[in-house]
Amino acid sequence: MAILQIKDLHVAVEDEETHQQKEILKGVNLKMQTGEIHAIMGPNGTGKSTLSQTIMGQPNYHVTQGDILLNGESILEMPVDERARKGLFLAMQYPAEIQGVTNAEFLRAAMNARRPKDDQISIMDFLQELDQKLALLDMKESMTERYLNEGFSGGEKKRNEILQLLMIKPSFAILDEIDSGLDIDALKVVSRGVNSMRGANFGSLIITHYQRLLNYIVPDTVHVMMGGRIVKDGGPELAKKLEAEGYAGLRDELGLKV
Ligand code: ADP
Ligand code: MG
Ligand code: MG
Repeated sequence: MAILQIKDLHVAVEDEETHQQKEILKGVNLKMQTGEIHAIMGPNGTGKSTLSQTIMGQPNYHVTQGDILLNGESILEMPVDERARKGLFLAMQYPAEIQGVTNAEFLRAAMNARRPKDDQISIMDFLQELDQKLALLDMKESMTERYLNEGFSGGEKKRNEILQLLMIKPSFAILDEIDSGLDIDALKVVSRGVNSMRGANFGSLIITHYQRLLNYIVPDTVHVMMGGRIVKDGGPELAKKLEAEGYAGLRDELGLKV
């Protein structure tokens, strides 16, 4: 079992105009373990993507207070690739395009980066697993022979991100707005992929503005973020309530000014 814990996390970014640091996350607390799917919902501009970028270690996001612990160990000093090797996955963390590297070559390298040097995956095993996951995601084999992300449509990129997820098998996946811009068929495919990962060795933090995705990937816990803090926790019914009443309703209920 792996545990991801976010403790009193404060994060600042540099304002593009004034060049001053502005605080976006103002004390986020969250604890999750493998076997669980958590959702974070919240209005636009509230800091959801800031949280996911900070977990993955994007250098523009400065942790000014608090900590992020993976199995009790702080990850704050680790670069992005080390966090990935430790089992964290962020959809869209991988480069938009890599010249001259096919999708399959990239996947195999990313899988091997998570395995010990003396236990690299064989080509045969790799191809067998790839075929199986491609079938699950209704993807054509030719997708994997193309150069990574080169000329991929929006929907193909999303599917490919889920293919990466299924092949790399992280302990925790942070999926930030994976539903944006997907038609209903693509949404179902993406959800099927994530649901196939469910189990004791996998946890996911699903970030979404809308409830719709959570009809397909039913979370164990729902957190609502507003104004850089988690203001409410609940079960899947909380997402439905938000969809019906909007964020304004919750803001009033909690007496928030943000
Ligand atoms: P959400 O994902 O909830 O919509 P974000 O985390 O993207 O919210 O943004 C929260 C706030 O932080 C916004 O006001 C946004 O403009 C600001 N912000 C996020 N990332 C950056 C950045 N790299 N540089 C400057 N401001 C940023
Ligand atoms: Mg605080
Ligand atoms: Mg966002």
